[in-house]
Amino acid sequence: MSLRTVPPDTLPTTTCEVEKVQGTGKNPCPILYPCSLPRSMITICDFQALIRTMYYKKDVERGAEATFLWLMEEIGELASALRSGTHEELGAEFADVFAWLTTIANVKGIDLTDEITKKYGKGCPGCGKYACNCPDDVKM
Ligand SMILES: [Zn+2]
Repeated sequence: MSLRTVPPDTLPTTTCEVEKVQGTGKNPCPILYPCSLPRSMITICDFQALIRTMYYKKDVERGAEATFLWLMEEIGELASALRSGTHEELGAEFADVFAWLTTIANVKGIDLTDEITKKYGKGCPGCGKYACNCPDDVKM
């Protein structure tokens, strides 16, 4: 089992490498602990700009609706990888799904960092807590 898949409440409490670099000494991302940064300090904003730089012209020509079909195909591949893929295959499918989702955001002029921050930056949109305590049957 990778440390990345260990339940957060059982994670070691040593300082996150990201925070060592940034100097606060706190671990802001226990689910991702231990980050192996500085392998890459790419942010969602960086990634959206990267996808835009690489593909924007083609993406706009294809349009959001056709691109959505590509996203659905990738989600199907993610489903297959969840069922029977290797850890490596699963990781690659997550990357593909995120890339196609980002592509659609670019085509529609959605800033993912802004939207994610607005919706999740202050905790769960349902209960407002950083550790959600919404009833199990409520989907945010
Ligand atoms: Zn909640």
